[in-house]
Amino acid sequence: MKRDRKNIALSSREKAALERIKRSYDRRRERRSDWGDFLIKALPFALVALGIYHEVKMRRGQSMVICPACEREFAVAVPASMPEELVVSCPHCEAELVIGVTDEEYSD
Ligand SMILES: [Zn+2]
Repeated sequence: MKRDRKNIALSSREKAALERIKRSYDRRRERRSDWGDFLIKALPFALVALGIYHEVKMRRGQSMVICPACEREFAVAVPASMPEELVVSCPHCEAELVIGVTDEEYSD
């Protein structure tokens, strides 16, 4: 998906949070990633953790999601080769959403 790069101003508290997220990401993957790799692969979820993006879970094959920010439903165009996550903005309120695709039942 082609997107314009956004400048997101981070406070020092948010930068520290991002460092923590990167450390736990590296631990899960059992290797150190460089920041470029981390930002490409994990930034959407880091922004979720910082409260900048909202996360939406979606079952594979589903095309309608409910925006957690405005609670309105909208359709998502799903690429043929579905990645693990999609970053979209809500057409109603323009909230940035990360859609995590799962094969499993919802769980919290
Ligand atoms: Zn919305």
